[in-house]
Amino acid sequence: MSQLPSVPEPINRLDRERLQAVINNMTEGVLTLDSSCLVTMSNAVALGILDVNDALGKHVDDILHLTDKAGKPVHLAPLIQTQQLGSDKRHLASRDWQLRYADGTTAYIYISVAPVQSAFGQAQYGGYVLLIQDITRDKSLEIERSEFISVASHELRTPVAVAEGYISNALLAAEKEHTPDTIKNALQSAHDQILFLSNMLNDLSTLSRAEQGDLAASMEEFDVNELIDSLLQDFRQQALQKKISFGYVGQKNLGRLASSRLYVHEILQNFITNAIKYTEKGGITLRAKRVEDGVEFSVTDTGIGIGRNEHSKISEKFFRSTDWRVRKINGTGLGLYIAAKLAKLLSGQVSFDSELNKGSTFKLSVPGAATS
Ligand code: ADP
Repeated sequence: MSQLPSVPEPINRLDRERLQAVINNMTEGVLTLDSSCLVTMSNAVALGILDVNDALGKHVDDILHLTDKAGKPVHLAPLIQTQQLGSDKRHLASRDWQLRYADGTTAYIYISVAPVQSAFGQAQYGGYVLLIQDITRDKSLEIERSEFISVASHELRTPVAVAEGYISNALLAAEKEHTPDTIKNALQSAHDQILFLSNMLNDLSTLSRAEQGDLAASMEEFDVNELIDSLLQDFRQQALQKKISFGYVGQKNLGRLASSRLYVHEILQNFITNAIKYTEKGGITLRAKRVEDGVEFSVTDTGIGIGRNEHSKISEKFFRSTDWRVRKINGTGLGLYIAAKLAKLLSGQVSFDSELNKGSTFKLSVPGAATS
């Protein structure tokens, strides 16, 4: 009589003990979940962060009471079970959620969830592994820093605007009264510097807002063509002064988009001011089209372009090209960095294509339900 081969258990006792020893020695909190999101293993660090004695067999949403930035509850199980695991659909990570304890106190946690997969990328055990870290201290420092920049840049704006006004008046008076060139040049330089300072303060204040990521407050449904019209209106004069064209090519009925008008405006405004700054002849074209999930905007110029060797650095903080044509123009190197941050908050994306001495195209894709 032949014997049926015994079916191997997915994880035998020895393997499990070895795995538990590894998990226990990790500095991050670790929870493993089965496919129903019940805890199958945990380590002491995780229990410490969750402030519970035992988690085995409990449902993840019964032990992890999470809230998002707006204070709304976050339920992990539906998020991970419907495979909404971040952009690569395999992994979910957040530094923005808070863990709420029974006594009402909260802690910021870093959380990362990934499905357990075999070497071939297939879900083998049908479970998930969760890493958690208490990042309250880091977060408080980030928030403090951001608040400081926000308050300082706001407080500095008024005296800088007043000084700019006085220097402007002095420049006008100097023109009228045949003041020596040395004085006029000195006033002009002071004026350029104060304008630079004022742009820097604006950028810092936008940056701190983007870093605080208070997106919920500015979410709305807005008319896309109305936004385009207001941008055309705002920048027509600047383009005219440089004798370059500025126009829109695209649909006239893009409908409404559920996103942040403020942030989309800020990003496109940055693309357009750059296009005007770095273009000496030709023109600028603003385009927009509806795509499957939202709207895609682009700004194309016939300007100085960006050399291939600098493409990878373009959205770094404070990056400015070494090209002399860029250096002779005032700029902070913060605009595209902020644009990328704002786009990320909208779950959108900034990309670009550019050729030296030919021109550039900067693109923004914004997801969001579009209605007519
Ligand atoms: P800023 O314009 O204040 O220097 P940004 O962050 O907006 O800062 O842009 C970073 C750099 O990218 C610029 O200094 C410039 O070198 C390059 N750049 C951005 N937009 C363009 C453009 N349309 N054409 C050519 N270069 C550009």
